Amino acid sequence: MKPAFNVRQQSEIFIGPLADILSGVLPEGRVVVVSDSTIDRLYHSVLAQYDTVLIGLGESVKTMQTVEMIYRRFIELGVDRSTFVLAVGGGIVTDVAGFAASTYMRGVKFGFVSTTLLGQVDASVGGKNGVNVDGYKNMAGTFTQPQFVICDPALLRTLPEREFRAGLAEIVKAGLIADRELFGLFESHSLEEFRRDRALLGEAVMRAVKVKAAIRVKADIVERDERESGDRRKLNLGHTLAHAIEKASNRMNHGEAVAVGTALIAGAAVKLGALTQADCDRIVNVLTALGFDLTPPVEVKRLLKEVGKDKKNEDGMLRIVLPVGIGDCEVRPMTMDAFAALF
Ligand code: NAD
Repeated sequence: MKPAFNVRQQSEIFIGPLADILSGVLPEGRVVVVSDSTIDRLYHSVLAQYDTVLIGLGESVKTMQTVEMIYRRFIELGVDRSTFVLAVGGGIVTDVAGFAASTYMRGVKFGFVSTTLLGQVDASVGGKNGVNVDGYKNMAGTFTQPQFVICDPALLRTLPEREFRAGLAEIVKAGLIADRELFGLFESHSLEEFRRDRALLGEAVMRAVKVKAAIRVKADIVERDERESGDRRKLNLGHTLAHAIEKASNRMNHGEAVAVGTALIAGAAVKLGALTQADCDRIVNVLTALGFDLTPPVEVKRLLKEVGKDKKNEDGMLRIVLPVGIGDCEVRPMTMDAFAALF
């Protein structure tokens, strides 16, 4: 099967049935799998074919300790530079395994089978990996492309609804940044329809990863701009506050925090005169219809304190991504005080 997209001629992204794709892309030689206990339970017979390193569940395992555990298991298993590391899981697994693989013995080759919606449309695409440090998100990591990413929408059928919805938040974000039609799919279809209708979901994943979405939203931005300057920052729409929300709240997952962050930044864009109230209402309506609670889990003042410490705070200036229409956004440098005054 041909890849749907090729990032920098280094990383091939496939959207389709795993069984048809995997055998064609795995290199000859030894393969070691990194995954988590959920995937092991669901796909034990598949993982059992390989030496497998399992990590724990949840954001709290995205740490250097887990990476060290993986290094130790790799040493025990005799992993060397000729071994291929296959990460099978959601964003936690691919972020941690991508970091471990890209640093173990100064880097071994790796690929991803992405098993969550968030992973398929966002976390596994783009070559960013890493871990949190003292609760600060993604403070250590590398930019290293996996050899391939496989996104099989059929793997998502076992995904709990909450995780599924979280992935949809990233697809809405992708549409908002650069694909008005993709955003429009959410104005004409319910969460249940996305869940039930494989073709609709496939189209949304495809759009978020491939042609319009991948080229214009993520992969193309990655190609032009791999180290997160300029346009690539647009991918952080809603994330300045979302990272603070995730840190301040122990009940919200990434997608839920992105939904709240996107709604807050849309409101701020209206205050700045950058976005019309009507477009802001469309954004809020789509996110609400998907079932997101858009109430910040803690006072916005507390979130702003966290924003000050976030890694995207450079030279005393924040780079805020503002939606300026449906399918259009811009990056504005802003002082922390000016940003805080918007809330
Ligand atoms: P996750 O990896 O924790 O997966 C969510 C849960 O679903 C886990 O319990 C997992 O075991 C389970 N699961 C995975 N696949 C399943 C399946 N097919 N069926 C049933 N259950 C399944 O969470 P996530 O939302 O995929 O990823 C979140 C992480 O991704 C965050 O740490 C975030 O920072 C990171 N992320 C990274 C990037 C990047 O560019 N590197 C981008 C966005 C998000």
